[in-house]
Amino acid sequence: MFDVAVVGGNISGATAAINAAKLGANVVLIEKNKKPFFPPRCGEATDEITAEILELDKIGCDKNQIKQITINVSSKKEYNIKVKKHGVYIIDRNFLEKYLLKNAKQQGVVTKIGCRMKNYNPPYEVILDNEEILNGKIIIDATGISCQVGKKIGIDTCLKPSDVGVCIQSRVEGNFNPDIMKMWYHKPYAPFGYAWFFPKNDKIANIGIGVPGGQKLDLSDLLNRYIPDECGEKFKVIHTFRSCVPASKPLKPLTKDNVMFVGDAARFANPVFENGINNAVFSGSVAGIVAAKYINGTTSTLTIYEELMSNKVKRLKKVYYKKNRLTTEEKFVKSYRRAFSLIYSLNKLFPNLLQNQLIKIVKKDKKIIDTIREK
Ligand SMILES: Cc1cc2nc3c(=O)[nH]c(=O)nc-3n(C[C@H](O)[C@H](O)[C@H](O)COP(=O)(O)OP(=O)(O)OC[C@H]3O[C@@H](n4cnc5c(N)ncnc54)[C@H](O)[C@@H]3O)c2cc1C
Repeated sequence: MFDVAVVGGNISGATAAINAAKLGANVVLIEKNKKPFFPPRCGEATDEITAEILELDKIGCDKNQIKQITINVSSKKEYNIKVKKHGVYIIDRNFLEKYLLKNAKQQGVVTKIGCRMKNYNPPYEVILDNEEILNGKIIIDATGISCQVGKKIGIDTCLKPSDVGVCIQSRVEGNFNPDIMKMWYHKPYAPFGYAWFFPKNDKIANIGIGVPGGQKLDLSDLLNRYIPDECGEKFKVIHTFRSCVPASKPLKPLTKDNVMFVGDAARFANPVFENGINNAVFSGSVAGIVAAKYINGTTSTLTIYEELMSNKVKRLKKVYYKKNRLTTEEKFVKSYRRAFSLIYSLNKLFPNLLQNQLIKIVKKDKKIIDTIREK
């Protein structure tokens, strides 16, 4: 019997496994893909505090520092927002995911890579597609948007189409300015969503589109029109993938009996920007630490995880309800233009104000991780 069985071996699952194992828990990590996170199904943008928690410099993970964010809301009016004080990075998630799995092994985690959880028999049995049965006292569901353990224990994991960000992204070769990342809101490329251009360096960029589900759109066609708009005539598409990200409220509950939910399985991606790396790392770290503390008797309940995540849940819910009010094209465009023009003006007057505010949130997350680990 393992102390903790983590199902899903990407960023939230690997982070949970590492944190639990570091505190002495006996952990197994199950990941269905033989080559985890290849090709990387992510724009790979993140902030400096998340980069710090992941120790990207120490582990030698490439990161391209962004100096300007250019935002266009359904018109040729661009808002150029300088990023001065705090780092925004485009990282190498393929490298990172590989490193996290290697690190998990080094911490003593038993890794089952290329093994799919076929079934879950509560409370302990995780049944793999090769019929092997692994028992875990605590189960951490890190299976991403499919939330597969949750489904098996009667949690409402259904998402309405509009609560799913439907994405397509290409890795593109060309000649790029590596300092500028671009986001294009709404039409013509991303109705009620956004298109992104995230340069990894001066030769490679992630270019994609994410829109709410339920719209009859030809995403390939939209991306084929957006890419030349960003790259000019000379570019080469290396690969393209489609994927989904939750754009809903966080899952309720975040723990049930001996099961905890992290990352996209817990619907912790931001419903507007659809970024989820930071919250996957935050929730994975906290869940892993709480699981280990429960096993070693320092805490008597897993629900402490819910308490530690409660501010995050509140904030994500607020964003979700705000987004849901933008039901018409007029409301959507007006609201985003107003928000970005305010950000643009504030940023000109007080260059660090907004960045300080945003980074404060992630700093608080880091403090929670550090405090609970030390307790
Ligand atoms: C196109 C796109 C672009 C994005 N861009 C950004 C960005 O720029 N910045 C950002 O912060 N976020 C971005 N996100 C969101 C971010 O990628 C996710 O929030 C993050 O990857 C969530 O990590 P996770 O580990 O919780 O889930 P996932 O990355 O979905 O990992 C789930 C893992 O579980 C495994 N799994 C599933 N079922 C089983 C099973 N039955 N048995 C075993 N293993 C299983 C899967 O193989 C997978 O490896 C983007 C998402 C998409 C789709």
